Amino acid sequence: MRAETLALAFALALIVLGAGGLIWNRISRRRMRSTEGSTPPEYFEALTALLDNRADRALELFLELADRDADTVELHFALGSLFRRKGEIERATRIHQNLIARPALSRTQRNLALKELGEDYMQVGLNDRAERIFSELLDRKRFQAFAARQLVAIYEQQQDWPQAAALRRRLEWITGVSERAVIAQYHCEMVEAALEREEDGAAREALREARRLGPDVVRVRLLVARLSSAEGDIRRAAREYRQLLDRDPEYAEIVLPVFAGLFPAGARSAEFQTLVRRILASSRRARIPVAVAGVKHPQLRIPEVLGAIEMELGKRIDPLMTDEPSLLESHDVRVALMRLLTRWVEQRPLYQCDSCGFSARVLYWHCPGCRSWGSMHLKQDIFPELGSDHVTHGLPRPGL
Ligand SMILES: [Zn+2]
Repeated sequence: MRAETLALAFALALIVLGAGGLIWNRISRRRMRSTEGSTPPEYFEALTALLDNRADRALELFLELADRDADTVELHFALGSLFRRKGEIERATRIHQNLIARPALSRTQRNLALKELGEDYMQVGLNDRAERIFSELLDRKRFQAFAARQLVAIYEQQQDWPQAAALRRRLEWITGVSERAVIAQYHCEMVEAALEREEDGAAREALREARRLGPDVVRVRLLVARLSSAEGDIRRAAREYRQLLDRDPEYAEIVLPVFAGLFPAGARSAEFQTLVRRILASSRRARIPVAVAGVKHPQLRIPEVLGAIEMELGKRIDPLMTDEPSLLESHDVRVALMRLLTRWVEQRPLYQCDSCGFSARVLYWHCPGCRSWGSMHLKQDIFPELGSDHVTHGLPRPGL
């Protein structure tokens, strides 16, 4: 806590010194060009306050000067940014509103002030005001990509998927970078909302659009399979799941339990066994998700799945077992290990975001940490290092 406070104070001092530097430059320039050569005494008072570590007083004085002097646009921007970073949004807002009200402001400066004001509003959750500002900036070439991204963030937060999709299309047009996969995710959101409301027609319609935009998006395939299964088209559901795992075996953790559920014989069905054999044979990436599915769902533990678990575990347990290789042959040890492993996996975050590192026990399509879409993936270090102290400490003794 103390370290955080010190860091904050240091950051603040740097920012204030930056604002002070700006003032100092302004004073110097003013002296050079002024015929009368007078500098308002408040400049020196503000700088003295800075040197005395009275940052708040210094800021107040700078603000007064900025309010009085029509020739202090840069200072206004610096102060506005400083206040926002300090979390003093009201002050930042006032500065940016003052700027916008100045009739002599250049077009670019006015747009910049609008952008800053929009950010102030976003920070305090005044999304309707921010929306109006960023909608205006959408027509300004220099700010349009930024404005489109801010509007996307606002509509995503409001779960207004059609509007968010419209802005993504606009962004695509501005930047030339495809947004189709994310727009497909929006349609998946609409599918799930429609299913929740039991509006099957709307769900199917949204899913058609999702497929058109992102036929290979994992979530789209999962929904196609889910809807096919709900409509009784088991063959199609099974085909979608197979194609999904052929392409992305890491989703076996999610797919295998539902795939087994398509058939009366469950995991004992020929279809399930064939699928597991195929994905394990085709990709090494399949072993961890298959093993996790097996640990989490006892009904899936056919020999191939158990083999995947043992291989994952074996890699880690071998060094422990060199003295007593027969230990793992013990039924009791195996049962106890499986129990321990189940508990371990149930308590661990299984998924992690590639962009920000956020981790969670379940897969989020929209990362709660950084708001990226489709960025979370199954972690590769799920299984415990049995040699490490905190795990071996909890290992049950044979026979228990
Ligand atoms: Zn993230």
